[in-house]
Amino acid sequence: MKEITHYINGAHVKGTSGRFSDVFNPATGEVQAKCPLASAAEMDIAVKAAMAAQPAWGATNPQRRARVMMKFVDLLNRDMDKLAEALSAEHGKTFPDAKGDIQRGLEVIEYCIGAPQLLKGEFTDSAGPGIDMYSMKQPLGVTAGITPFNFPAMIPMWMFGPALACGNAFILKPSERDPSVPLMLAELFEEAGLPKGLLQVVNGDKEAVDAILYHDVIQSVGFVGSTPIAQYIYGTGCSQGKRVQCFGGAKNHMIIMPDADMDQAADALIGAGYGAAGERCMAISVAVPVGEETADRLIEKLVPRIEKLKVGPWTSGDDVDYGPVVTAEAKQRILGLVQTGIDQGAKLVVDGRNFNLQGYEDGFFVGPHLFDHVTPDMDIYKQEIFGPVLTTVRAGNYEEALKLAMDHEYGNGTAIFTRDGDAARDFAARVNVGMVGINVPIPVPLAYHTFGGWKKSGFGDLNQHGPDSFKFYTRTKTVTSRWPSGIKEGGEFNFKAMD
Ligand code: NAD
Repeated sequence: MKEITHYINGAHVKGTSGRFSDVFNPATGEVQAKCPLASAAEMDIAVKAAMAAQPAWGATNPQRRARVMMKFVDLLNRDMDKLAEALSAEHGKTFPDAKGDIQRGLEVIEYCIGAPQLLKGEFTDSAGPGIDMYSMKQPLGVTAGITPFNFPAMIPMWMFGPALACGNAFILKPSERDPSVPLMLAELFEEAGLPKGLLQVVNGDKEAVDAILYHDVIQSVGFVGSTPIAQYIYGTGCSQGKRVQCFGGAKNHMIIMPDADMDQAADALIGAGYGAAGERCMAISVAVPVGEETADRLIEKLVPRIEKLKVGPWTSGDDVDYGPVVTAEAKQRILGLVQTGIDQGAKLVVDGRNFNLQGYEDGFFVGPHLFDHVTPDMDIYKQEIFGPVLTTVRAGNYEEALKLAMDHEYGNGTAIFTRDGDAARDFAARVNVGMVGINVPIPVPLAYHTFGGWKKSGFGDLNQHGPDSFKFYTRTKTVTSRWPSGIKEGGEFNFKAMD
């Protein structure tokens, strides 16, 4: 049995707590490794190494730091296939999708190469007679992040890229379900020239997370995962005086207007609803056709497309549409919710419950499901299913459709499919959701914009990546400087207005 390590102060280190969790091969259901769950004492060793390494890195000029980022990008490209294989093997997503996971993280590292430009402060010449005023963006010190299982490469890179570019040390507590790729990334960063102790990976569960939250030295915490844990981490981290940003669950609505190109809308829903087995925080899980006729046309287009979906292990080639879900527990939860949907009166139009893959009977595969006539009071509408289950809520008109997206407790992403610019513009302006697609089903902003949801999908002031991330990982110091010619004449004791 493979034993996964931590990566502390430039070395792979075995866990010493005696606690482990299983890492599965989701395609076969077998346990393929055990992941150590760190104690507070192990976390403290990493924090001490980070404290020792950070001051010199923080004082290194941003361009030199950016050169390490450049080299890291080269190494990511060199090892892309190796990383993607390791990612698919633990997560279960298809090989092209695993490469996409790495690529969208890599793009944030590319953005961070702009650190010398992004870290420039403000300067006011002659704010008063002989007085200049300027601001500096300084690193926070030791920072930490806690990441989910569904993007084991991209989300860690979204955090440690900007954190390191800004001159911080970063401790990553990745998901214990697929911990191998984060360890490989930390190793690669050191190969790129990052001094040891600056990027460390400490595996674990709640105990390791609490060790981060209650450690005095750690200045900031980034979290991505489910909403209850996001709320816990946000509340606890803030009460400990840390800077905290937490991103939670989602229930993303796609509104299909009567004038939409129905083939385009159906294709978009297939990719956005079932891609990565629905285990994306930007997956579309609710289709909202406007009008009965639109709904009937949409369902008619969706059914044959869903029936053609190819579900299988990542090893069976690039034409697989999606793989297994992450654990047996996730599979049971999804199938349990499907049953609840039926019990509460939704119409199951495509039933994936009896899906079985020969040779992979113990794998965590879930067939695709489509529900119609879902209503807002049903659990399958209220809860995040995080599986290959698309629900359809029929809306009578545009205002009703908009209200559905507005009234839902989550506000991560949403989309509208229409040919009417006026409806699209109104939707983008009024909807209380953080990321909006217009004829784009998964509107994940690129690295140089920022990513973040509203309502129960995001807690904190600043988004991930883009300019916000450079704000999150620095603090501003403002200097007022005066070089009076008359300094030799003595001190100035009055607090003076700058006239
Ligand atoms: P999760 O909340 O179970 O776990 C996320 C992290 O929190 C992991 O590192 C885990 O070890 C840790 N954790 C789990 N239980 C904890 C506890 N009791 N106390 C402290 N830490 C704990 O989430 P997941 O299942 O890994 O990921 C799926 C969820 O993440 C979905 O809800 C999805 O929508 C969300 N997600 C959101 C975004 C976003 O940007 N909003 C992006 C990706 C995933």
